Amino acid sequence: MAGFRSLARQVRDPGCDLALRRYSLRKCLERFAPYGHRATWDHLCRRHGFGPEDREPDPARLVAALDELEEARAVWLAYEEKFAARRRREKHDGLRRPGWFDDWHRRTWGGNGVARCDDPSTHPTMPLAEALRRLISALEAGPRATCPVCAGDAIIWRQDLLNEPWFGPVCTDCGVVVPQPVLTPEALAAAKRRMLLRPRKELASVA
Ligand SMILES: [Zn+2]
Repeated sequence: MAGFRSLARQVRDPGCDLALRRYSLRKCLERFAPYGHRATWDHLCRRHGFGPEDREPDPARLVAALDELEEARAVWLAYEEKFAARRRREKHDGLRRPGWFDDWHRRTWGGNGVARCDDPSTHPTMPLAEALRRLISALEAGPRATCPVCAGDAIIWRQDLLNEPWFGPVCTDCGVVVPQPVLTPEALAAAKRRMLLRPRKELASVA
């Protein structure tokens, strides 16, 4: 199975068939897709001006999309390296972290679905690297009450997600499934209350 870097080389290779270059970019998303595969593809298509089903996109646009993806990947891999080193030190010193913190890192290792967007058409519009920088700052700063990417506070608990983790807090502004480690217990509780209140509110607005 080809790795991210050899796929990236194919995307840039002017001697390659255009359909193959496009296919290789999609394959890159199987290695690294911060919003999940479909949402990250939708994001790159919109930002770089080619259609999700366009079989012959402008090669310059494909390469620009790859540049954006690679920049984000570098940001994320640098964070993971730092995180792994810190975790080794902490374990050596006998420091424990809550199990779900490590679980979340294990599930998203390599950066896939790190800021998953369950609805592929709803995701942050900023460059991927910027979204990841914000997420990393939030992970390093400790729990908070707002979305780590867009700072919105309309976070709602969802039980019916289409991908792992299957349930969790979702920012209704930018669409990301917020990693639980970045939210305070109060913010998580509030998100769950909003889920419980939602049906009643909808009834009220009908009346
Ligand atoms: Zn958000």
